[in-house]
Amino acid sequence: MASDVMSVRLWLPCIKVLEVVADAPEWLAVRVASTVSRPRCCDCGTPGGRCHDRREQKIRDLGVSGRPVLLLWVRRRMVCDVCGRRFLEDHRAFEGKVTARVARRLVADARLMPVNAVAGRHKVGWHTVMALVAAYAGLVARHRRRRRCRVLLVDETSIRKRHRYVTVLVNGDTGEVLAMVPHRPSQALSAFLAAQGHKWCRGVKVVVSDGSRAYKAAIDQRLGHARHVLDRFHVIRWFGAGLTAVRRDVQRRPEGSKPAFDRDVFRARFLLMRRPDKLDAADQARLDALFAAHPRLKSAWDARSASCTASISPRTPKARWPRSTGSPTSTAPG
Ligand SMILES: [Zn+2]
Repeated sequence: MASDVMSVRLWLPCIKVLEVVADAPEWLAVRVASTVSRPRCCDCGTPGGRCHDRREQKIRDLGVSGRPVLLLWVRRRMVCDVCGRRFLEDHRAFEGKVTARVARRLVADARLMPVNAVAGRHKVGWHTVMALVAAYAGLVARHRRRRRCRVLLVDETSIRKRHRYVTVLVNGDTGEVLAMVPHRPSQALSAFLAAQGHKWCRGVKVVVSDGSRAYKAAIDQRLGHARHVLDRFHVIRWFGAGLTAVRRDVQRRPEGSKPAFDRDVFRARFLLMRRPDKLDAADQARLDALFAAHPRLKSAWDARSASCTASISPRTPKARWPRSTGSPTSTAPG
């Protein structure tokens, strides 16, 4: 017997080591079997049954000192006593082609690096890593959606710019993404809210969305009790677009005059778009002179400045749902 032999434990629950198949400096292969005497039928759930035959399945385990470890799982094929079906036994320590602890490591690494890099690092297939990440993502999403959500944020984004749009739902209190619903019609959002159930919907007190009519229809239908707030970013953008439209109108001069526009107004286009609290005395004096000559410009500028500091609710009595070019039904998010 070699003098440097020692035995180590695998620390896998309900697993017994049958033999060490290969113990080379490059890798370690161990044949293992389950100690669960009565595996459950995958069809009817009855434990027990008769062992029909055995197959060997390769399972990747965590490496030891940089040495990859391969488990050869002698997996039983059982025949159920009740329904008569044949089934392969499952084991809680294994997830597909890897052990549960490797699966956890792969998913943890996938949070920090691309799936490609994780697959290369652990020498497993890209599809193995991706399937685990997708399964884990589904688990996390289901867990998040079970919890109560008080503030619901709804917005759209494009996965492929201007090609594939999704509706993103976020818990406003925790910042966690609850779901990404394909497309952006009202049915998509409505179906998600319906699937969440009445109790969950009742728990939503505030919904924040942009000016999409589709979202408003779904929110009115399913979350009529909640306070609907317009996303401030979009409101400021609409007022900014309005100010630009007014400025262009004001700077225009009668046909035939040269130049065709008011230079002072045109030159102030960037100054007008600056936030009011970022203006110094010289900027303010320049604006005051401009506003004295063009009162309409001042009205538009005042409205935009107010939108920067105030949040506006569309449920105020005379609020109009804006028909804006910034609506997500027509353009990408900015
Ligand atoms: Zn059965």
